[in-house]
Amino acid sequence: MISTPVGAIGTGIGGGVELTLSNIAQEMSRRGHIVKIVAPVGSIVKDVPVIEIPGELQTPAQNQTRDEPIVIPKNSVLANMWDYARRVQLDYDLIVNFAYDWLPLYLTSFFHCPIAHLISMGSLTDAMDDMIEQIATNFPGTIGVHSLTQAQTFKFADKCRSLANGMDLSIYQFRSQPNNYLAWVGRIAPEKALEDAVAAAKITGIPLKVFGVRQNEEYWQQICQDYADASIIYEGFLPTAQLQQKLGECRGLLVTPRWVEAFGNVAIEALACGVPVIAYNRGGLKEIVKDGQTGFLVKPDSVDGLVDAIKCLDKIDRLACRQQAEAEYSQQAMGDRTEQWFRNILISH
Ligand code: UDP
Repeated sequence: MISTPVGAIGTGIGGGVELTLSNIAQEMSRRGHIVKIVAPVGSIVKDVPVIEIPGELQTPAQNQTRDEPIVIPKNSVLANMWDYARRVQLDYDLIVNFAYDWLPLYLTSFFHCPIAHLISMGSLTDAMDDMIEQIATNFPGTIGVHSLTQAQTFKFADKCRSLANGMDLSIYQFRSQPNNYLAWVGRIAPEKALEDAVAAAKITGIPLKVFGVRQNEEYWQQICQDYADASIIYEGFLPTAQLQQKLGECRGLLVTPRWVEAFGNVAIEALACGVPVIAYNRGGLKEIVKDGQTGFLVKPDSVDGLVDAIKCLDKIDRLACRQQAEAEYSQQAMGDRTEQWFRNILISH
């Protein structure tokens, strides 16, 4: 399993990919597969060996314009990871790519070992769209995504396999009684629109706990300046065990993406703790939140919509949230979906 080249696993810079990769790797090894992770130096994953590769990190792709060219730095960790993969490929049945990058897609036809690509974002640039489409066409079944909505951002949606996500629910404790806090969890970056959650929390007078890596410090400082009188408590970037504990104490999670979020791991983590999710009706969140049952889907970019939903939070049964996570997003369910995808690729190779 070859990780994202934007940051070491455990730093939070890789966003949801870090948790997704860790969960898939742990589950596949629990099922008896021999799994190794190839990742940038400093990466840590519990119970799975990591081969740490040095090199320059890749710049995250989230804010690129459509016609942006592919840029790869000198001594690229992305290139170094894939050079390692080339050398050891005959020792493995399958390589799984977790990078949203052109190079691993391009390299697919040069490898003897089959490659499964788990695409973690929707359509962002023409160069990436073209390359993913080529692989989807020439290597049918090898492009995995996290939601149908994400797939529909590509013109080859029907060639993508939607796998959702899942996690080890035993790590997430159900909390029936929250305290009077709202939560916001994620990379602090413009595409996540934290400012909308802050504005809504301010109007309702409920303090907002913010969890996540400050990926864009300037953006964070601007929010602190613009909402100096809002009650925001920055909790930092926490490991899962601590995150779930503090998240479970909150009345609701606000998920406010400005972009088409491919999935939204934070939403299923909240549900697992019994925390209702108030999300913009956009991207993968549309497929996760059961409107009126496990949270609310709100008109995208509407702070008023968030406020109205916050006022209705007490109508949601927190146990129903946990039950949805158990039914749809367990490690077992995710493992079954992913293992079947891998098996299909091996059969058709
Ligand atoms: N996260 C974390 N600790 C924190 C805040 C966030 O581990 O304090 C993780 C969270 O568990 C989730 C990821 O950050 O897996 C964010 O992923 P998501 O899919 O929501 O968004 P992405 O960053 O991939 O766009």
